[in-house]
Parts: sequence; structure tokens; C-alpha cells
Amino acid sequence: MRHAVVGPVPELAAYGVDLDMAERVHHRYPIRLTPYALSLLRPGAPADPLALQALPAAAELIDEPGMTADPFHETAQAACCHGLKQRFPDRVLVMAHDQCAMACRHCTRKGLLGTADVVRTPSQVAQAVAWVQAHPQVREVLLSGGDPLLLSDRRLIGLVRAFARLPQIDAVRIGTRVPVTLPMRVTPELARALGVSKKVWVNTQFNHAREITPEAVTACACLVDAGIPVSNQTVLLKGVNDSVEALFALCAGLQRIRVRPYYVFLCDPVAGIAHFRVSLRRARSLERELAERIGGLALPRFVMDVPGALCKRPI
Ligand code: SF4
Repeated sequence: MRHAVVGPVPELAAYGVDLDMAERVHHRYPIRLTPYALSLLRPGAPADPLALQALPAAAELIDEPGMTADPFHETAQAACCHGLKQRFPDRVLVMAHDQCAMACRHCTRKGLLGTADVVRTPSQVAQAVAWVQAHPQVREVLLSGGDPLLLSDRRLIGLVRAFARLPQIDAVRIGTRVPVTLPMRVTPELARALGVSKKVWVNTQFNHAREITPEAVTACACLVDAGIPVSNQTVLLKGVNDSVEALFALCAGLQRIRVRPYYVFLCDPVAGIAHFRVSLRRARSLERELAERIGGLALPRFVMDVPGALCKRPI
């Protein structure tokens, strides 16, 4: 990530960003994007759906009553061992990296990024694997962060193999937005190596049809051709995809590239993203309208997080 665009750099002004405001936002919620993500933006169009996700906005600084950085007390949950948490009986979450290629402005973890304990050293990996082995009811490992695809090939493949070789594990799920924000990171060699175990699944996050660029298509094709199922978890975002036309174009586009539209998430009540939230009533109406427009294979489930629930709740 040597070429990352970090902070309120002057080139952001061309996209309508007020640099003084950006400085204040950066102090609270760091600005970071890839040159690739920047190249997709339209100069002078700050309300563009891609710009809204990538560029800082004054609305991030408005403190809405009742909204905190961690509404579901994620950070308070004790780790089972360094970098590994268990929220559900059959699944564990392993923090593989503490950074992302792009600091998405709508991120529900924006106040927590960079703070998590990450499985870094060989002994931490061995400890996490031993913990899973000692709990045979665990059948799925989710590698998340931050973005696991920011690890080197060697470290990522090693981490995946360490869990995939356990007979009890049916799936190693990788949560990554790299196919959207840094698609050239996904190479055929990496995809083939990840596909070897036949246990790897990838969940990504396309939020708008314009993110389905030739580079993103190539990245997803590498993964799918390597036998890795790729699903998409969209976040429902005001101004980005809160119309049936935008959601239809996104879901149809994803199906065309063999990426399954899996979930549409409602934004959690997190500080700094209130301006992106879509009402439950509007979300329900969008779900109905979309179901009338697109076949079941391309129809995602609209869900929300509920504190203490054992699964995502249909809206
Ligand atoms: S890639 Fe995901 S975790 Fe990372 S900043 Fe974007 S939304 Fe947040």
C-alpha cells in the first residue's frame, strides 16, 4: 500500500473536498483510499455514489444522539485467544489484519479500525488453530479485520491452510473489499493457491454497479475460476444505492460476473455514518420492489444486526 492516498492531500480538492473540513474529519476518521478508487471518481461531483463512499464529508463530524463507535459492544467481547472471537457456536472470527485498502466513509467499524488485536506471529496463528481444534463444534472460520487480502500471499495462504487442514472445518470465509477497492491485488496465482483446499469462500462488498469495472470483473473471475464461491454483502446507503434502479443494476451486474448477491445490510447505528442510514420503512419497500424486478438467484436478503441475536435478522 505504498501508493495509498492518505489524509487531506491537495488532489482531493479537484473532487470538491474542502481541505480544512477534510483535516478535521481525518483527525477522527482517517482518510485513506487507493489510487485505483480515486481514478473511478468524477472530478467536481461530490454527490457521486462512489465519491460518497470514498471522500470525507462534514456530516461525519455530526454527533447524533444515541450513536456510538461500538453500539453492539463488539470490543467488550472477550477474545478466546489472541485475535480470535466466537459470537456463534459453530463459527469463529479471526482478525487477520487491522487495516483496509480504503477507509470507506460508511464503514460501521470506522471508529474501531486499527484497534483490534490481530493474529500476526506464527505462535499466535498456532494458538488460534489449537483453540479451534479444541472446540470441535466450530466448523467455519471467518478471516476478517481490516482486510485479510492486505497480507502478503505467503502469510494469507499460510493462515488459510492452517485452518483449512483441520478436518472439522468446512469453510474458511474471507471478508474482503479488495476486489472493489484494489482489484489488481487478486492475482490468478493467489486465487489458485487459495482454492486448493476447496474450503475457501469469499465475501466482498460491491455497493454500486459502477464499481463493477473491468479490473473488478477480472479479480472476481480469478477467484471463481479457482473454485472459490464469491458472494456480495451490500450496505444499503443513502445517496449510493437507495433506489430500486441502483439495486437492480448492482444485483444484475453481480450475477453477470458470477458473484452471488447475498445480503443487503441496513447500516448499524454507528457514530459518523448517520447520513448514510436508510429508514427501515424505505428498506422494506426497496426489498419488495426489487423482488418484483429480479429473479431469486440474484435477489439478496435484506437483513440487519440486532444486539444479542444469534444471526442476522431479516428486516
Ligand atoms: S473495507 Fe469494510 S471494514 Fe474496511 S473500511 Fe471498508 S467497510 Fe470498513
